[in-house]
Amino acid sequence: MCGIVGIKANRPVAAEIYDSLIHLQHRGQDAAGIMTYEQRMHAAKGTGFVRDIFTEENMPRLLGNTGIGHTRYPTHGGFSHEEIQPFWTEVPYGIALAHNGNLVNYSELAEEITDKQKRYLNTRSDTEVILHLFSEALSRTNPADSNGDFFESVCQAVENVMDHASGAYSAVSTIVGKGLVVFRDPHGIRPLAKGVRKNPDGTEDYIFASETTMFYALGYTLTGNVLPGEVIFISESGRYYSRRLRTAEFSPCIFEYVYFSRPDTMMNDVSVYRSRLRMGQNLAESWLKKHPDVVPDIVIPAPSTANTAALSMAHKLGVRYSEGLYKNPFIGRTFIMPGQRERKKSVRYKLVPQEIEIRDKKVMIVDDSIVRGTTSREIVKMVREFGAKEVYFVSACPPVKFPCFYGVDMPTKSELIAAQQDVSHIEKYMGVDILMYQELADLEEAVTRKGDHHIDRPCMACLDGKYITQDVDDDKMREMEIMREKHRNGDDLWQWSKKSSS
Ligand code: SF4
Repeated sequence: MCGIVGIKANRPVAAEIYDSLIHLQHRGQDAAGIMTYEQRMHAAKGTGFVRDIFTEENMPRLLGNTGIGHTRYPTHGGFSHEEIQPFWTEVPYGIALAHNGNLVNYSELAEEITDKQKRYLNTRSDTEVILHLFSEALSRTNPADSNGDFFESVCQAVENVMDHASGAYSAVSTIVGKGLVVFRDPHGIRPLAKGVRKNPDGTEDYIFASETTMFYALGYTLTGNVLPGEVIFISESGRYYSRRLRTAEFSPCIFEYVYFSRPDTMMNDVSVYRSRLRMGQNLAESWLKKHPDVVPDIVIPAPSTANTAALSMAHKLGVRYSEGLYKNPFIGRTFIMPGQRERKKSVRYKLVPQEIEIRDKKVMIVDDSIVRGTTSREIVKMVREFGAKEVYFVSACPPVKFPCFYGVDMPTKSELIAAQQDVSHIEKYMGVDILMYQELADLEEAVTRKGDHHIDRPCMACLDGKYITQDVDDDKMREMEIMREKHRNGDDLWQWSKKSSS
């Protein structure tokens, strides 16, 4: 998962892109980059937090009224400095591009580019492959084209991406001397919202971002989303062009609502906060049906993503909501941190149980999801150590049984506890008196019940195994899982993928 932003304004954009990346920090804490355009491209990139990468020294160098930014959470490619987005090519024109998502057919495309087209790939990132597909088609255009004609070329270039790339991709791009381009894959798996700001002189500024939380602070009004399969081009002179190149089932990622997005985001015209409230309501109804005689004394969220669902569940059950686990806000989200040891260590670092809330109580813990089960187990242990009489564990998400190949760094199938064990075994492993998961239909209902949205059916492949792109079979899954393991071990992925396909 990553965060992206693109701004085309009538004033310098670097500070606004920086502010946007601060708002998108939760989508990737590994690295970040900004590229702006004024006469030439200007870039600043680094590893770590946004606030540490961009400084009083490098920010003034990011000149221009057009720019893009990215926060990285690597799901494809490595952790090196060369793989920090935005990526850049000087042929043709000079194009910078940042993307959020993941290509399922990366290895086939990389092989095609290097072996058949005899082109060189600098990195192991699928962003470079998207940039190649985009720039290769754009190189066949005439640089003297007027805006309207150039938009036709942009459409052809994005068609080339859509013809070849399979998977999830929302992209922002600046083209030297031309303007800003944004596009989204035909299923709209990863988000991309758009906003506009009207200036006193009648001109308009445009923002495109993974989430909407920075819009208000920066003075932009949310005007909707980049539609699945749509391309939008804002020319240097500020003219707005758009076209929907493909229509397919609109299947945005349901895990954005469960875990990733900030609660104050409007995602695909659905409030993430409200969807989490509804998740809690549905959980409460399910609990009352399944365990009508079991009444907890308190409902405690595993902070902080689960706070909202826990609040509405407690309300509906008529039970006191308690912040019985205090979260140290200065420690990162454990799901994002690579490596098992770090994660285990950090649960006790970041959560402190409040004994006064827990001792001698029947405690219901609500979490957003159970992925490997290790974090949940640690939480249960802690609550027991602090004197809970009984512990019930409720997951706002159904069992996670399949890996994600669309941009979320899910573990491999062998690491997903629900892919390996049934509920009664997981209950025992976690040491809880009752374990209850959200039903799949209830989760979908919670996300789609309200809002003037156009979601056909959310992607729930990690829950039901139905991969939207239809090219994830057992062989592909194994290939992608080996690739992911190689990434984690820092092995040479490209050498591996060539060997495996030969
Ligand atoms: Fe989201 Fe799961 Fe689909 Fe991945 S597989 S895009 S995490 S719903």
